[in-house]
Amino acid sequence: MNLERGVRMGVLEGIVNFLLAYLIVNGIFNYLAFTRARKAAQQAQAEKEQAAINLEVKEEIEMVRDNICGCTLPKSEAYVLFKNEIKHYFCSWNCREKYIADNQM
Ligand SMILES: [Zn+2]
Repeated sequence: MNLERGVRMGVLEGIVNFLLAYLIVNGIFNYLAFTRARKAAQQAQAEKEQAAINLEVKEEIEMVRDNICGCTLPKSEAYVLFKNEIKHYFCSWNCREKYIADNQM
């Protein structure tokens, strides 16, 4: 009788220990998954912000094409010529003069 009871207690203890171990391991895995997910979310947010900054810089430095020599340059550094209400951009004064000569302005 006592032995039977002892065996039953042992089995019960084994089940309880197993459940506790399971809960602890499960908790650790959940915590790790949560940490990883939060890190990924933070990284995604940082990348999004960086992309927005890159877009701003890109918009700030607008590139224009010089149709005489075919080069591309920042709008702020270009020589501008108004013709028929259209702005033409050139990399140099020479390109601008060449355009004027070619179009007989
Ligand atoms: Zn040019």
